[in-house]
Parts: sequence; C-alpha cells; structure tokens
Amino acid sequence: MKILVINAGSSSLKYQLIDMNGEVTIAKGLCERIGIDGKFTHKVDGKEFKKDVDMPDHTAAFAQVKEALTEGEGKVINDLSEVTAVGHRAVQGGTAFAKSVRITDEVIGKIKEYQALAPLHNPATIKGIEASVATFGPDVPQVAVFDTAFHQTMPEVAYLWGIPYELYEKHGIRRYGFHGTSHRFVSARCCELLGKPDGKGTRIITCHLGNGSSIAAIKDGKVIDTTMGLTPLDGFLMGTRCGVLDPSAVTFIMEKEGLSPKEMDDLMNKKSGMLGISGVSSDDRDIAAAIEEGNPRAKLAWDMRTYQIMKYIGGYVAALGGLDAIVFTAGIGENQKLLRAEILEKMAYLGVKVDYEANDVRGVEREITTPDSAVRGFIIPTNEELVIARDTMSLV
Ligand code: AMP
Repeated sequence: MKILVINAGSSSLKYQLIDMNGEVTIAKGLCERIGIDGKFTHKVDGKEFKKDVDMPDHTAAFAQVKEALTEGEGKVINDLSEVTAVGHRAVQGGTAFAKSVRITDEVIGKIKEYQALAPLHNPATIKGIEASVATFGPDVPQVAVFDTAFHQTMPEVAYLWGIPYELYEKHGIRRYGFHGTSHRFVSARCCELLGKPDGKGTRIITCHLGNGSSIAAIKDGKVIDTTMGLTPLDGFLMGTRCGVLDPSAVTFIMEKEGLSPKEMDDLMNKKSGMLGISGVSSDDRDIAAAIEEGNPRAKLAWDMRTYQIMKYIGGYVAALGGLDAIVFTAGIGENQKLLRAEILEKMAYLGVKVDYEANDVRGVEREITTPDSAVRGFIIPTNEELVIARDTMSLV
C-alpha cells in the first residue's frame, strides 16, 4: 500500500510517497513559491530534480507532483491509482479532533471553523485538501492528522488561562499545543525503549527543539501539559518567536511603537526569539558559530533559551510527580550535542548523569545518559510523515 503524505503551507506544498510495506519513502519533494514564481524539487534515491515552473495555485502544484511521480527520470509509479490514500498534516483541530479522521465535508467545515484560531495554517490545509481531491477524485480516501490532537488529553487546569471564562466558551481561547504528531511519535518510541509500550506508569518529557520548539509533559502516555498555546507562539525562545512574555508587554509595545495587531504579531513571530536577542540569525548553527567568535548577544540568546527550557522542565517534573525519561528530537534536539549536554547537566539535581560519548552523535536514536542515571535521556529522531502515513493506513 502506498500513501501520499501532504504538508501544505500558504505558498508551499511538501510531499512524501511512502510504501507502507516496509515503511520506506519512495520519493519526496517540495513545491515552493506557489502563486509567486514557482520552484519545484523532487527527490528519489538521493537524486534531486529541480525546476522553476509556474504554479498559480495548489492544484497546479499537485499537477507537478503527479507528473514527477509518474513520468520522466524521477518516476516511481506508473499511475496515481497506485496511491491508496492521501494523508494531510493539519495544524489546528481545536477541541473537535483528538484523533486523526477521514476527511468529509463536515471535517472540512470544522477545519474552516477553526480558521480564526490558525489564520496562517488552516486555510493552507484546506487548499491542500481541495487540490488533492481535485487531483485524485472523490474515491481516493483523504485523511487529516492534526498537530493539536495528541495534546487534547490535557486537563482544564493546564489548558485554561486566568481570563474571563466566557472568552473560552465564546472564542475557544485556551492552550491547544502543537507538534503533537512529533511528541506522540517520540514518546511512544520512548515508552517502548523503557519497556512499557502501553505507556502505563511512565513520566516523560519530550523536547521538540527545531526552528519552532515545544516541550510536552506526558504521563501514562498522555499529554498533561505543553509549552505552546493558542498558537505556536507560547513557550520558550525559538528561532524567530518570542515565547512567553508578560501579556501587558504586548499592549505596551503596541502603544509605544504605534504597531497594529498584525505588526505586533509579526514582531513576536518573525523578529523575536534567538534572532531578536542575538541580532545574528534564527538558525542555531549561525548562533553557535557567533558564540565561538565571542558574540555576547548570541551567547545571551543561547543562555536565555536554556534557562527558559530548564524552568519548563522543572515545572513539568513537578506536574508529573517525578521523571523517568527525557527525549530530544527535531533539528536542534537531534543535532546539537552541546545544548543536550547542557540541559542534562542542569538536571543533575534529579540524579541525571550524561554519557558524553553517547551524546556525541547527530540524528540517530541513542540513549545519552549513563546506566546509573536516575532519569534516562534519549535522542529519538522524529518522523511526522510516518505517523501521518500510519494513521492514514489504519483509517482506510
Ligand atoms: P527543524 O525546524 O526541526 O528543521 O530544525 C531547524 C533547526 O535545527 C535550525 O535552527 C538548525 O540550525 C538546526 N540544525 C539543523 N542541523 C543542525 C546541526 N547539524 N547542528 C546544529 N543545529 C542544527
């Protein structure tokens, strides 16, 4: 069975064709600058096929994907009929979706309803779904896998904020959490590594550290708290996002700087975080290089992030009533040994002991604490596409 996984952005579309027999990726690629000056990349067996091609909308992007998969040098299937189903990454599923679902008109309606909560993401998801249905026809099942779904087990005390309750009832203002597909994948794998595949009796903290970052506290295999909130802005310093700040600073800055809500949103989402503090870059490799060169603001950004992460970890250990394991994943979590070591060293008060030799790796699954460490630390590479493909397969 072959499953096509789609991750649609407002002007981009990532795809991956996965053969579920052996769970191998047969081809993947990216349509960029849709509606602008389209750029298309298709990858098969380590070979890359690139071209500039006009893609006025997502349906036109799908036509490119179809052509790349079925024709020419990068061809991997004879016909689209070899694709059994399509799985879509969907960002905001609100309270309606605690699990992945087969897409129906009603599901599309709900995703549209949640558009107000994810104005950048949900319209893109809809575009991806509509273009996929237009390409594959009504008989090929389409499945939506939500970033928010895994976090739906959070209790009220964790997901509500102290503003008038009516605002939650009226507008759904609450913590939803994101990167759920990743937290779910790595926490499930961690439970297996702990010898408790059903998750019962486990207390785990998963750190998804990438350009966007979030941490989740997971008890008995279920999320009890997470750092991202109503949108993926809350939490700790990210590449360009500020994370937590005093809410009154928002209105104060808007008044002082004469910013509109949209401009303030841009400031917090695109000009803050590691970039905003360092003035260097949002990319962790640039930050690390700048620290090497003695840049004090790059060092400050790094130290602020570590400090904020440690506060969340400390809080989550309290919320979980102890800790069995901590997991690092995503671009920074899988690749940045210095940050992993630093975090684990700062957990010495819990009896954590780093295995520096084991930690000296990139992007592989590995235990990075010593056998006598009181809490086990792991690198577990995430694979959101595989989760989407697995959910899609199980629903069809
Ligand atoms: P992601 O959003 O998961 O793709 O992660 C992107 C982040 O991972 C960027 O800040 C990169 O600098 C960081 N990253 C990727 N590869 C490495 C690496 N080899 N060493 C350190 N950081 C890396």
